[in-house]
Amino acid sequence: MEEIKWDCAACGFEIADRDGWVHVRMSEVMVQEGAVRAWHEKYPGPSHSLSEISEFPDPVPWNALHEVCDPTGGEPYAIGVEDLRTAWDLIEWTVQLLEKTWLDATNWREVLRRKHHEAQSSSE
Ligand SMILES: [Zn+2]
Repeated sequence: MEEIKWDCAACGFEIADRDGWVHVRMSEVMVQEGAVRAWHEKYPGPSHSLSEISEFPDPVPWNALHEVCDPTGGEPYAIGVEDLRTAWDLIEWTVQLLEKTWLDATNWREVLRRKHHEAQSSSE
């Protein structure tokens, strides 16, 4: 199985083991959750128009960063790239993250989709 690679969102270079992490900023998560609550108050009820849906707050991105490229010094929540090298690692972390009430506020789903796509294109 191919090792999963992580490129730094700041400098673009690949991140070696113990040189960086994949993280999401909890401060942004809290802002996003507040914006989602406000959206539900503005547009109550189960069905919504496309324009209402288009106003739904974007999820907070997970970013891969070198330790030296991260101005926050790894503000939580951060997972070392050495712990995210295989599909099994991703599954293990996803199971842990699913216990977090804030996971839906982030784009973890998109991270998984992207890594799955990269693995498929590299095996062709
Ligand atoms: Zn970097």
